[in-house]
Amino acid sequence: MKKSESLVTTGNTVLLALAKGVCPICSLVRAFQNEIIERLQPNDASRVCNYHAWAIAASAPASSVAAVFLSMLRGANSEKGQKEHIDCDLCWAIREHEMARLHEFAHEMQRRKFAEWLERFGTLCRFHGAVLRRKLPEEHAQIVAKVTENNQHQLEELLETFAAQAQSGGHAGGGILGRAAEFLVAQRGLTR
Ligand SMILES: [Zn+2]
Ligand SMILES: [Zn+2]
Repeated sequence: MKKSESLVTTGNTVLLALAKGVCPICSLVRAFQNEIIERLQPNDASRVCNYHAWAIAASAPASSVAAVFLSMLRGANSEKGQKEHIDCDLCWAIREHEMARLHEFAHEMQRRKFAEWLERFGTLCRFHGAVLRRKLPEEHAQIVAKVTENNQHQLEELLETFAAQAQSGGHAGGGILGRAAEFLVAQRGLTR
């Protein structure tokens, strides 16, 4: 994917995303994905995966989507080489963005206040927690491990309560199922 104006990211930061109580990397990557799909121009992408083709088809306005698909059909960029076995230009751009955000997160961890806040209140999905643990120095990796452990224990307790209630006919608190899915495999719609 060429670096056109349409793919420049907005001013969201790890810091802002973290305050929302969900995995900040997931939130930022998903926001980036929505943004590039919405602002996609003809020639921005020549090859897309199943998930992204349908996401583009469902985006608006229809005239821009038609122009994007026309450009793909006519193969304006079909001569571009294969990039690291990822056959979708959007997946590729999103992966690059994810790496940049993980790097930003690792950098923020160097600030004691950030690390302390994360340790007490932070949320990370299991996938991004694992990536960060491999990337960070030992001291910071331990904090991340503690955060995902805390998140997991909290989810286990909430799910046990939810399952018991659901068995006796209660349906309240179903949002916990979405939170569990998010923790297990990252936010909905993030392809791997
Ligand atoms: Zn995540
Ligand atoms: Zn894709």
